[in-house]
Amino acid sequence: MGSSAVKSATVRRVLSGELCVGCGLCAGISSGSITMTPEPPGYARPRQVAPIPRPVEAKIAAACPGATVAPWPGGARVHPYWGPWRSIHTGAAKSPAVRFEGSSGGAISALLIHALSTGRVDRVLHVGPDPADPTRNATVISRTAEEILARAGSRYAASSPLESIRDVLAEPGRTAFVGKPCDISALRNLAQLEPSISEKIPLMISFFCGGIPSFAGVERILAALDVKRADVTEFRFRGRGWPGNCTAVTPTGVAEMSYAESWGGHLSKEVQFRCKICPDAVGGVADIACADAWYGDDDGYPSFDEQEGRSLIICRTPAGESLLKSAVGASELDVEPLEVGEIERMQPSQARRKRVIFSRTAALPVSLQPQPKMAGLRIVEAARRASFGEAVRNFLGTLRRTLRGTRSRL
Ligand SMILES: Cc1cc2nc3c(=O)[nH]c(=O)nc-3n(C[C@H](O)[C@H](O)[C@H](O)COP(=O)(O)OP(=O)(O)OC[C@H]3O[C@@H](n4cnc5c(N)ncnc54)[C@H](O)[C@@H]3O)c2cc1C
Ligand code: SF4
Ligand code: SF4
Repeated sequence: MGSSAVKSATVRRVLSGELCVGCGLCAGISSGSITMTPEPPGYARPRQVAPIPRPVEAKIAAACPGATVAPWPGGARVHPYWGPWRSIHTGAAKSPAVRFEGSSGGAISALLIHALSTGRVDRVLHVGPDPADPTRNATVISRTAEEILARAGSRYAASSPLESIRDVLAEPGRTAFVGKPCDISALRNLAQLEPSISEKIPLMISFFCGGIPSFAGVERILAALDVKRADVTEFRFRGRGWPGNCTAVTPTGVAEMSYAESWGGHLSKEVQFRCKICPDAVGGVADIACADAWYGDDDGYPSFDEQEGRSLIICRTPAGESLLKSAVGASELDVEPLEVGEIERMQPSQARRKRVIFSRTAALPVSLQPQPKMAGLRIVEAARRASFGEAVRNFLGTLRRTLRGTRSRL
């Protein structure tokens, strides 16, 4: 290995600390020297097959969300849980088909369709079912409303949408990018080093994220439904209604499971450790972040009773606000304003997790484990809202599990 080419210390450290989110950025910018490889229990993880130039390693260190999480922009309107915002709404796609196919109210798909039809972008880089195995994810390019709709819906399994980022940047024209908050963090950090990215990708759209389960989550669902993976011709985690059922289609029929059972009973049990210490699961550096605008039940918990989809839509940047205004003006979306204080009623588990990120991450250096840089994400401010008991329980729980090597069970 020459002195100007190295093994990536960042990737090694991130993998050893179980901090990799599988975004694919390191592979995407290393010209084949790092590849994304399936690893047990069912994630794509980077594997270095050749040395990389030092400047590439420097970019990985600055952009990898397992090493450095992008800070939220400052300003008067920054909430310690919900991040920066310019305007907040609830709403849904006006087209019944988009609203029905979408995960929540189809807001992301409606915004993407509008961005394409008005020429704001030429294509969309996002995630859809892998045609070779619909229980898995593929990174896809959509250029038409039909393609956007075919990829609507949340996919609660590993995705690496930045793996092909160089190919996308090499294409002429502009691209909208949809990714998990950590994918957006990686792309924003990279854009700090390569300013042309902001021109080539003028729209970055994200969603609130409860965490990525490994493929073991899907395997559990298939086992419970008594369906063989090889027989599945179509697989949806939810959508087609709100929240919509998890659905596996085979040549002999359709097997279904409620969202409450698929997420609560299976997928949430297989979420990776990095998600348990995620300091920005609300897409704080996206142009727009969408989420479920759940209605609370009588006890204040979100109700998963089936109904017409409703999205929470947070515009965070002028580009995001301009896109939403234009889509509403063109009757692609119906929206109503929402007070920032109302979000906690819809998203209590996101608020709970943000409150304990400080105490969970404080346990990592004590057990000599690495942690990502997390400056500018209001972690301390959020932690002040945690009770003393909540903070101590989460510190000790993380420490105990880290020392025992079972931190993914946090
Ligand atoms: C792993 C995961 C965890 C989530 N956790 C929460 C949560 O805690 N709280 C909450 O309110 N909402 C959560 N959501 C988001 C929520 O389910 C809806 O996706 C969101 O409200 C947008 O709905 P929509 O109808 O506007 O999107 P749609 O119109 O259905 O569009 C969804 C878009 O997301 C993209 N996408 C789907 N899966 C992935 C993936 N794995 N990686 C990258 N891009 C993807 C699709 O390509 C599509 O463009 C989660 C979604 C995912 C994928
Ligand atoms: S988080 Fe992304 S950039 Fe970092 S090591 Fe994992 S795949 Fe590579
Ligand atoms: S919880 Fe955070 S780290 Fe995990 S997939 Fe979602 S955005 Fe990425």
